[in-house]
Amino acid sequence: MSCFLSAREPIKNTKIIFVLSLLFLVSPLVAADVIKIGLRAHHGIEKSMAQWQLTADYLSEQIPEHQFIMTPLVGLTELMLETEKNQFDFVITNPSSFIEMELRFGASAILTLRNKRQGKPYTKFGAVIFTRKDRDDINTIEDIENKRIVAVSERAFGGWRVAWRELLKEGFDPYKKASHVSFSGGIQQDVVSIVGLGNADVGVVRTDMLERMATEKLIKLDDFKIINPRITKDFPFLHSTELYPEWPFVKMNKTPDDLSKKVAIALLNMQADHPAAVTGKYVGWTVPEEYQPVRNLMKQLRVGPYVDYHGDENELQHFLDQYLYYFLVVLLVLLTLAAFLIYVLSLNRKILTAKAELEKLNNELEMRVAERTKDLVEAKNLAEKASLAKSEFLASMSHELRTPLNAVLGFAQILELDVDLNNLPDSEANIKEILHAGRYLLELINDVLDLSKIETGHYDLEMKPVAVTTAVNSILNLLQAQANERKVILTAKVPEDEIRIYADARSFKQVMINIISNAIKYNHPGGTVDVSVVKQENGFCKISVTDTGDGISEELLGLIFDPFQRVTKRTDIEGTGVGLAIVASLVEIMEGEITVESTPGQGSTFAVFFKLA
Ligand code: ADP
Repeated sequence: MSCFLSAREPIKNTKIIFVLSLLFLVSPLVAADVIKIGLRAHHGIEKSMAQWQLTADYLSEQIPEHQFIMTPLVGLTELMLETEKNQFDFVITNPSSFIEMELRFGASAILTLRNKRQGKPYTKFGAVIFTRKDRDDINTIEDIENKRIVAVSERAFGGWRVAWRELLKEGFDPYKKASHVSFSGGIQQDVVSIVGLGNADVGVVRTDMLERMATEKLIKLDDFKIINPRITKDFPFLHSTELYPEWPFVKMNKTPDDLSKKVAIALLNMQADHPAAVTGKYVGWTVPEEYQPVRNLMKQLRVGPYVDYHGDENELQHFLDQYLYYFLVVLLVLLTLAAFLIYVLSLNRKILTAKAELEKLNNELEMRVAERTKDLVEAKNLAEKASLAKSEFLASMSHELRTPLNAVLGFAQILELDVDLNNLPDSEANIKEILHAGRYLLELINDVLDLSKIETGHYDLEMKPVAVTTAVNSILNLLQAQANERKVILTAKVPEDEIRIYADARSFKQVMINIISNAIKYNHPGGTVDVSVVKQENGFCKISVTDTGDGISEELLGLIFDPFQRVTKRTDIEGTGVGLAIVASLVEIMEGEITVESTPGQGSTFAVFFKLA
């Protein structure tokens, strides 16, 4: 480590060295009066010392209780190592090395340099990428491909990193695309010389370096051209990149605040024409600039403390490291809530489905109950009707049976008396009455038995083709006597050809006798009964019986096929009231049909229809 003291007062300085040496030896407490300022000497040790010594002296004057010593180091690596060893109280260095010190050692910027260029103050600077004017092959960044680049040092801010970032931004990775990247070893002017001599194709230095060298007549600006030239308002120097805050005056972590405050006040108060400012080539100092852009640049280039920086990915990792526990707890709570919510929703859906199902079942049940109730009501009505019919039947039967039986018994008693009184002449008539009543009883019982057989399905049918014409003629012959007796004219209109129907011959005969017999019975002397047989188009045969008898009123017509329903008002005509009930049942079981049309006082037409065989 080299210590450079002011050349202004060599005798005094020699004394100081001597005194300081003594102090170092005898007491560490006294040594605290010496304040060391590390300095990045990017112009070389000598030039840098010439530039900055007066600043150290100025501080010693302003803060007499301390002796400020400038310690220049060309290499940034070396400067960083010394800083790590706690060798400095303050450091004047480039922005990127400050950021490294900030992160690694807790250093902080207390001021930013107001650099003097062309007589004016500037707090920003950048980098210049340049080549020799005669290099016609190099005009843009792309042209740098496979060319040799020289820059100040790998850690130099304006002298490399600012340009490196700019090149990357333009899609040009110098370490991959350039044929070679080399460094001058920390001195800016050497870079210009190397390019000027043609030992490299492209050079990188901090802004205003070319202008300053031109002012010092070391180069001619015209001999160089700028790659990627940029124009920035209020910044008159050649530059190829964005601009960043100027060098900071850095305080170390251990440096007392009180001292830092005194140093800052002293430097802020320095006049622009103060010899220290003039030789330092600056106008003064100002409050620290925002160094965040520098941090961003270092992150992007992954240099210094950000060598292992992996962008957002890394930040995420950091975030996870720091908050993983909370994150997991929150996630667990959220997952539990979500699971609970899903459970509640599925439960809700199940309830809704079950409710809908229940409603459906309920509706079905109601419908079935309604249907069942209807059936039951119908069945009840039917049963009631059946029971009523049965009661009526029994009442009718007992009446129908009692009347002839009474007659039989009555006349038998008279006969008995006749025998007692020997009144024999009346006996013949009484016996006739007994026979008549007996026959009637027999007829009635036969009819009832027939009807019950038919209705209980015990009536034997033999369905086969029956010759209608023949059958009708024979029935008419049979009933002719009855017609004669009643003075009724019996006529028949039957086709010549035989017609065959599908029926049971005996039942068919019974049906026809009943209908024709009624037509004769309920007629008047001189009335007619016409029987006709007609073959129909629809495959049926129609046998109709038309009389000119009493006729039946419309409301009574519905009753005549029920058993024991005698609707006639005439008492002189005998009958059981069961005949038409048997007729209707027989026609039905023979798969035929029966109709009746009647006009009271004019007559009736009964018609039966049977399938043609
Ligand atoms: P009945 O033995 O009384 O003749 P039916 O069952 O044969 O019984 O007939 C039922 C009732 O229908 C009869 O009592 C009668 O009042 C009426 N009836 C049947 N045929 C005729 C007809 N051709 N003209 C008028 N009334 C009829």
